[in-house]
Amino acid sequence: MWFPRPDDEGHVILLEPSGTWSARDVFALIVDPTATEWRHKVGVGGASDGSAKTTTRLLASRGWVLKTRTDLTFSTAGDARAWLLEARARGRAASVWHPDKLWSLLGVDGAWLPLTICPELTTLRNLETLRERRAAWTRMIQAAIDAHRLHGLGLDLNPANFATGPGGASERLYYLDEELYDRLETRNVAGAIVARIPEERAATTDDWLHWGHELRATLVGGNFRWDELVGEVREYPLAARLEERRAALVDGLGAPRAAVVAAPRAEITCIFADVHANLSALTAVLDAAREQGATDFLFLGDAVGYGPEPAECIRRIAELPRSIAIRGNHDHAIATGNLDVGMNSLAKECAAWTRTVLSEAELSWLARLPIEHMEPDWCAVHGAPRDPRRFLAYVYELTYEDNLRYLKEQRMPLCFHGHTHVQLAHVEAALGASKLPGERTLELSPRQTWLVNPGSVGQPRDGDPRAAFALWNRRTGEVTTRRVAYDIDVTARALRAAHLPARLEERLRGGS
Ligand code: ZN
Repeated sequence: MWFPRPDDEGHVILLEPSGTWSARDVFALIVDPTATEWRHKVGVGGASDGSAKTTTRLLASRGWVLKTRTDLTFSTAGDARAWLLEARARGRAASVWHPDKLWSLLGVDGAWLPLTICPELTTLRNLETLRERRAAWTRMIQAAIDAHRLHGLGLDLNPANFATGPGGASERLYYLDEELYDRLETRNVAGAIVARIPEERAATTDDWLHWGHELRATLVGGNFRWDELVGEVREYPLAARLEERRAALVDGLGAPRAAVVAAPRAEITCIFADVHANLSALTAVLDAAREQGATDFLFLGDAVGYGPEPAECIRRIAELPRSIAIRGNHDHAIATGNLDVGMNSLAKECAAWTRTVLSEAELSWLARLPIEHMEPDWCAVHGAPRDPRRFLAYVYELTYEDNLRYLKEQRMPLCFHGHTHVQLAHVEAALGASKLPGERTLELSPRQTWLVNPGSVGQPRDGDPRAAFALWNRRTGEVTTRRVAYDIDVTARALRAAHLPARLEERLRGGS
């Protein structure tokens, strides 16, 4: 018996949560007369699909692939369960597996083996054209870089270990292996690149040159220097007759690196949002941004509301050279006098006061702000890109996935937004969505989908009272999110002088 089969359903144990599955269903799949053992998929030989371990056992049954390993046997079900639960917890956090993957245990001949059941997917080896496979390898490598950078996991970079669903190469990738490592070494990435050469006999030196270009233009965020990776690619063991192809690949990898997003208008753009009439915080942000090289400015809305210095803040934003400004919900309410749209009672009270201190010219500056700014490869809104009005809905826990999906459908890789007053980026990468809070450097790629919130200048709500902003380096495609301290006492005195609610000062001091 090549695929280990238990005597009865009592020797199948499901690890929760198993959804609608029962041990009887799993047993029925194993003993189904149409089930076929996939012996030919085991052992990597030539271009055939396969797992690297000869102890792997695969069984295809009614659209599911059952997998176990004969070298992973445990004398008790408890030990097997502990191993499987630990492996599963690490990968689940990084969402590396197909969401329908089922985890269970098989009792055969007095021993317990882990059994996983996954829908039958297309592995990257089985994609039809070289072009599709090449794009999928790039995504596989990016997925491994992301899993390591974001979740501290090492994935085994073999195209037999990665698969896509029915959508083919453009769909997200799933990791098929259960085993996860702690690290991704530069050598592993180099190996994943070079090992494709002997598999693809029909590929020409031109194909390898192009793939090298593609990798150079696309991969972001590795914990290695690019020249180190190219060095490892040069050194990786390869048959002498394939050296010409490797040389073409190395040429492609070494090409001058193109701009990642858009043509640079200027090097560094300061991105900021939710100033809320806090002049001391705005001054600190603009000074820090200029000191750090910003020449352009992108303001994401809510110049006014809550704070004591609306006219001065409007003036400072309006006079910024080389700038783009869009409308927030407070700007909208205060400009139109319609204070019932998207405003709580504290916001309403402050908006009513703000209307009494702004001139006609200042109100009409607010009224003329556009609700969005669109470029071919990035956009900016105050609230959420999915919201038809752009400045009312929030990107938060319940809506960020929807908004990422919407951007993907629109083929829009990058959207800057504000409104939540929380410094936070979301990215939809090869392995699904991730959240990246706080101060950090984000390496944008047009192959991924990004929602970036620089945080709030004048009323942060993420527990850090310092003013928040971001710097976008248009040449490298990096966005760095930053904080700068400002004198809250100055703003607090102005709040008291304007007789605005005391609750506002508490919010500023607590960053809440
Ligand atoms: Zn706001």
